[in-house]
Amino acid sequence: MLSDDQLMRYSRQLLLPGFDVAGQDAVASARVLIVGAGGLGCPVALYLAGAGVGELVIADPDEVDSSNLHRQIAYRESDVGQPKAEALAATLRALNSDITITAHVRTADSDWLAAMLPGVSLVLDCCDNFATRSAVNAACHAAGVPLVSGAAIRLEGQLVAFDFRDPATPCYACLYGEGDGPDTLCSESGILGPVVGTVGTLQALMALRLLTGHKVDGVLHLFDAATMQWRQMTLRKDPACPVCHPPLCS
Ligand SMILES: [Zn+2]
Repeated sequence: MLSDDQLMRYSRQLLLPGFDVAGQDAVASARVLIVGAGGLGCPVALYLAGAGVGELVIADPDEVDSSNLHRQIAYRESDVGQPKAEALAATLRALNSDITITAHVRTADSDWLAAMLPGVSLVLDCCDNFATRSAVNAACHAAGVPLVSGAAIRLEGQLVAFDFRDPATPCYACLYGEGDGPDTLCSESGILGPVVGTVGTLQALMALRLLTGHKVDGVLHLFDAATMQWRQMTLRKDPACPVCHPPLCS
């Protein structure tokens, strides 16, 4: 039941067909895990906190560096040297005191994810390395928790959502395999702030659509900021995928 203050606060999204009070209730009762508090995680967390997601759990092992400030929009110069998860949580609490924010200054590894995912409504992969991406994908698939995955480097971005409540959905490993692939680092290749912001913003949009009962399209969206072009690829389940292939009959 929304209070008068909440009805006013969220009125502009409550007006939307397909969102309304039922959607706000769904958002308010959601528990969402954000893996990575960098250039993707900042806009994701700000928009989801603004929308009134009931509980946000943030995991990131790193501290804010001055080289992050051009793209990681939740941080200020005074945050340099602070753990990102805690600095982001402080910003979110100032934005919305109605919701619960939990910060974990750590890597989201397989054991931690397996313990954390029961009770989580949705995961947003906003991390910057392939090992964590693989762990998040496998854990979400095993737990049947929807995953919205984003990535950006240089002038290129991509995002895709997997609704693992549907056993027919493909997974990240169908696309990229599994294991310790080489990482392309922003510190070596560069990244433009609005590129990663575009992807993070659309991850937040996909998350709100999922939380309010809309289906995701199972499409990989690829953005090239140099040409302002988007491309879409429909993903298929890989029958040889090490994560989500159906078990063999005996
Ligand atoms: Zn797969």
